[in-house]
Amino acid sequence: MSIIKDVLAKAKQIDPDQPEFHQAVEEVMETLEPTTKRHPEFVKANIYGRIVEPERTIIFRVPWVDDKGNVHVNRGFRVQFNNAIGPFKGGLRFHPSVNLGIIKFLGFEQIFKNSLTTLPMGGGKGGSDFEPKGKSDGEVMRFCQSFMRELVRYIGAETDVPAGDIGVGGREIGYLFGYYKKIRNEHTGVLTGKALEYGGSLIRPEATGYGTTYFTAEMLATRGLDFKNKIVAVSGAGNVAQYAVEKVNQLGGKVITLCDSTATIVDEQGIDAKKCDFIMELKNVKRGRIKEYADKYNTCCIEGASVWDVIRDQGIKVDIALPCATQNELDGSHAAALVKNGCICVAEGANMPSTPEAVKIFQENNILYGPGKAANAGGVATSGLEMSQNSLKLSWTREEVDNRLLIIMKSIHKACVETAEAYGKKGDYVTGANIAGFTKVARAMLAYGVV
Ligand code: NDP
Repeated sequence: MSIIKDVLAKAKQIDPDQPEFHQAVEEVMETLEPTTKRHPEFVKANIYGRIVEPERTIIFRVPWVDDKGNVHVNRGFRVQFNNAIGPFKGGLRFHPSVNLGIIKFLGFEQIFKNSLTTLPMGGGKGGSDFEPKGKSDGEVMRFCQSFMRELVRYIGAETDVPAGDIGVGGREIGYLFGYYKKIRNEHTGVLTGKALEYGGSLIRPEATGYGTTYFTAEMLATRGLDFKNKIVAVSGAGNVAQYAVEKVNQLGGKVITLCDSTATIVDEQGIDAKKCDFIMELKNVKRGRIKEYADKYNTCCIEGASVWDVIRDQGIKVDIALPCATQNELDGSHAAALVKNGCICVAEGANMPSTPEAVKIFQENNILYGPGKAANAGGVATSGLEMSQNSLKLSWTREEVDNRLLIIMKSIHKACVETAEAYGKKGDYVTGANIAGFTKVARAMLAYGVV
């Protein structure tokens, strides 16, 4: 057996109940096979075996009290995966589906994504099986405080810097940071995604959606194309989706779909800037359901179906697909339908939204396919810029941060293209992203000896 197959087999054998983690490891490891020949020193030092094992996994109890005085308990996680090139860095996810395997898959992906950004950040991820939807602000605050009461022992501006993810937006980061500050009596850049008033960066809320769109534009440009007059399908209706819609509009595309976990809306007229503002207010302030968009704008709303289900079942034509909701939302049948309906480009705003079967279909059909760890790296890259501003005790302008984000997304795209070519896989962004992200981390691990 090759070292790659050994590593995969062991990951499955020692943690058999972590399918998402196996999926992420398999997707990365399979593309790393050629590096074992080019870098025998990585094999000798067993970098491949070491990189799939987190540096540290923390699981903790999070008790909290609801508005009626009932006591609840949730489980908290922080997986500090790899800090070879910088402090652990990665978001926190609050969603009932969260378990150790999901946090490990996200933390593993984060290692390579953060490496690709060119900034000094290691990989980590955390979260809880807590459901913020339907909870009052007071309940969310008490949960966040209890979560931080334990997490505080393990994080720090030079150690581990969490951020947001599904279910963790500006409100949650505020409660988490406020409590950290209270306990530690220090005001440092220990979390990113902070509000502007207390150390946040301009463009951080926009960064993942904008970055995914910039990356897509770079991919399109390799075929002499751009966003103008393209029909775009976006899934999700949260942070990433909202700002992807905003930027696609600015670049001349027309977004016709969005969804949440209950329904999908299709608006053939396009979700323009005004409608996008409505979605932001609906989701970020009122915390309502996507159906309210259909009620307001008198558009089609399909309950219980995802964007990709609707495109497949109704044969809707789209040029570009930006999955921005969650992992494994887009399967082989969805991918086949996208290809059949003329889609030319898929870029992942979400982490691992396409199943392995879907990815295979995109690649076999010569679709421009940008995997999440490259296409959505703009969020963490701008978190890195927030950390830099916090260290320097400076605030950059909106234009400055946006420009740096654009430069970073272009450089990630270039690294993917050049690395894929160097390994004889022209146009394969998966191979390019994985090998480029891996090589830097592997070299740093090698330099440290066996630690
Ligand atoms: P949000 O919580 O802001 O939004 C998530 C959206 O996706 C919500 O509209 C949610 O619906 C919807 N959704 C969640 N699960 C499902 C599902 N099973 N089916 C359909 N819709 C679903 O999260 P983000 O926008 O921050 O994150 C979205 C994705 O992007 C995740 O994969 C995340 O890991 C990734 N990502 C996020 C980054 C960031 O900076 N925020 C950075 C890089 C990647 P509902 O409201 O009903 O829950």
